[in-house]
Amino acid sequence: MSMPHIDQIIRSRRKTIAIIIQPDGRLIVRAPWRVSEQRIRQIVESKSAWIARKTRELQQAQEQALLKREYRDGATFLYLGREYRLKLEPSAYTGLRFQEGFFLNPNEQPHAALLFEQWYRAAAQEILTERLRFYTHRFGLHYKKLRISSARTRWGSCSSHGTLSFTWRLVMAPLEVIDYVVVHELAHVRVQNHSAAFWAEVQQMMPDYKTHRDWLKRNGRFLSL
Ligand SMILES: [Zn+2]
Repeated sequence: MSMPHIDQIIRSRRKTIAIIIQPDGRLIVRAPWRVSEQRIRQIVESKSAWIARKTRELQQAQEQALLKREYRDGATFLYLGREYRLKLEPSAYTGLRFQEGFFLNPNEQPHAALLFEQWYRAAAQEILTERLRFYTHRFGLHYKKLRISSARTRWGSCSSHGTLSFTWRLVMAPLEVIDYVVVHELAHVRVQNHSAAFWAEVQQMMPDYKTHRDWLKRNGRFLSL
């Protein structure tokens, strides 16, 4: 078993050490001032089986919650890294409307999942077209075609013919994270593999890309209906 990664150590006047796994999977250790970092690492390592089990349980509970997605009044949906509430409103218009929140006619509730997917797709088309325009102009890059997919874990891809694909789920993430995926795929136009040369291209376009790549690794599973 590998050594669990400690994301943060919070020191205080407390007397004992506590290991906390946050809802997003981050591991935080609360410790007294006098305990050395080496000692903290030893304790965390000795608890690695427990940590692995807790992390798995947390993940399973979250996956269960996602499966039970309901399109009821007050349910929340992610868009550009923020949560917005759904309001069921029996008014004249049809379809799903967004205005600092989602508005849906209760008559349309039975096919809400489809309406949400269509809405996210349209948003993805618009946002990704704009972000691609921004980065291609700035770095003198080209691509052939943009395609919106519904992949669950593959955020983006780049074909050898220069077609860039992105999943509509990506627009649930914050803009900087979307930009990271855009930059990643644009770098593939120049370098197909994930070699050091590839990551150098990514870094040149986005010096802090690692933060956003890590965010996606941690939170990718929440970007779903
Ligand atoms: Zn890649």
